[in-house]
Amino acid sequence: MNGIAGKYALVTGAAKGIGRSSSLRLAEMGVNVAVNYRSSETEAQTLVDELKDLGVGSFAVQADVGQLDQVKAMVEAVGERFPHIDILVNNAGIIDDTLLVRMGDEAWSKVIDTNLNGTFYCTRAYVRGMMQRRWGRLINVGSIVGIRGNAGQANYSASKAGIIGFTKSVAKELAPRGVTANVVTPGYIRTQTVEVLGEKFEERMRALIPMDYIGKPDDIGHMVAYVASEKASYMTGQVVSVDGGLAV
Ligand code: NDP
Repeated sequence: MNGIAGKYALVTGAAKGIGRSSSLRLAEMGVNVAVNYRSSETEAQTLVDELKDLGVGSFAVQADVGQLDQVKAMVEAVGERFPHIDILVNNAGIIDDTLLVRMGDEAWSKVIDTNLNGTFYCTRAYVRGMMQRRWGRLINVGSIVGIRGNAGQANYSASKAGIIGFTKSVAKELAPRGVTANVVTPGYIRTQTVEVLGEKFEERMRALIPMDYIGKPDDIGHMVAYVASEKASYMTGQVVSVDGGLAV
């Protein structure tokens, strides 16, 4: 019904949070999922078992997406298990927050390397095959902060805004070849990234969210699965916010 059963996906940073939910929702549609992780090996293996229980092919593959040599090794390892990748979900992301006056080179580079360069390295590795097969889905996880900015997150918002520009350009390049590229921008979603920010922060955020609650990973996972499906085949270059009304 969704038209993507039997396709092959790679989800980066899939062991936890939004990546984990996206993997499960894709598997429910019959998509085989390669699970990339950086450090969460146990969680990645647990997810692989859950995905296999849903009847799809799955395996875990370790790589830091911000390191080109590791991305190359990952692409090779994925190629030994799956014939190709039809759906790429660039989800891996980190924050390293501090005000600009205190921001060191490392905090800047680390965040840009993972969030923006990682998206570039993984996308470049898979677009040629997608173009040749005349079908592909590039789904990049952005952030509301990439649209609106946020004090203390100049590095993170630059990386996420970069993802939006990158996606729009790629969408235009690949549209004639049946490959779509879109950004899903979560608002505030209850994952490890947000948990560490503390209760006070959560209270302040809730006051800004018209729906008055922090979202769940599945709120994003379902949108990722929809964008991957045939139902979204006429949609490209879009930035889709799923945020309880925060961006309105
Ligand atoms: P989590 O911290 O739960 O998960 C982040 C995942 O990214 C982890 O599984 C981690 O892998 C992986 N990761 C981090 N760095 C790398 C790397 N260099 N290479 C490969 N994987 C890496 O966070 P979320 O689920 O919240 O975040 C997922 C995405 O959603 C991110 O891009 C984030 O910016 C975005 N987002 C989240 C929001 C939220 O409110 N939660 C809001 C807006 C955007 P491992 O554990 O294996 O190290």
